[in-house]
Amino acid sequence: MKSALVTGANKGIGFEVARQLAQKGMYVYLGSRQVENGLEAIDQLKAEGINNVEAIQLDITNEESVKEARIEIGKKTKSLDILINNAGIYGGYPQSAFDATIEQFKEAYNVNVYGVVRVTQAFIDLLKKSSEPRIVNVSSSQGSITLHSDPSYKYYDYKGVVYLSSKAALNMYTVVLAYELKDTNFKINAVCPGYTKTDFNGHRGPGSVEDAGKRIVKYALMDRDGPTGKFFSEENNPETGEIPW
Ligand code: NAP
Repeated sequence: MKSALVTGANKGIGFEVARQLAQKGMYVYLGSRQVENGLEAIDQLKAEGINNVEAIQLDITNEESVKEARIEIGKKTKSLDILINNAGIYGGYPQSAFDATIEQFKEAYNVNVYGVVRVTQAFIDLLKKSSEPRIVNVSSSQGSITLHSDPSYKYYDYKGVVYLSSKAALNMYTVVLAYELKDTNFKINAVCPGYTKTDFNGHRGPGSVEDAGKRIVKYALMDRDGPTGKFFSEENNPETGEIPW
């Protein structure tokens, strides 16, 4: 059975991605920083008849927690096929270029950027043992510098400097990681789930977690002819999905 690790999987989009991957036959490790929230998520999936899931304590801002999670998963599997770097935060308010505080930047980058780096670096050896390793970095079209410079972009006026810049940094990490693994069987992409109804935005997003989950799972299950080092947002490009960095 192939295996997957999803960060921030106790709720929202990450939980749905874990559910969909498990429904497609993966053995899924649901990362959650609070053990009890992870266990609750597992109970919910088991109540739906989904048993190929397991909770793993994983606070992506904490080196020890990431290290422990790698050791725990390493005891259970010799390879990891899919890593979904989903956990993310908005970074609080204000988000104006004038007023956002350095503390806000540090906190958001610690999850959205350094957290992804920590987890990716910790699990890359297990991923390299997979015959078809896939990494999806859950980004946002909001991290596209090109779109945010275009007044016709639908979220042009939704400028939050802390969050947007953290996702732009995540995007560049994705590009460089994909470049460094370009001569391998890895497929590594940044995917925007679309503006989705979750706690993240006080449930203001119009999209469903089901659709958001499908958009991410699609790139987690890409075959060997699939893209790597690209940025996708079906919400912003329903035709090919690809959007500019
Ligand atoms: P959410 O409902 O707020 O869920 C976020 C998840 O990340 C939670 O499980 C949360 O855990 C976890 N998390 C936060 N900090 C963490 C840490 N230090 N270590 C481990 N996990 C941590 O948000 P969502 O809407 O599902 O967002 C998921 C991803 O999609 C994020 O990367 C977000 O930027 C991206 N995204 C969302 C939208 C949208 O409209 N919702 C649009 C574009 C992109 P706790 O429960 O412990 O807080």
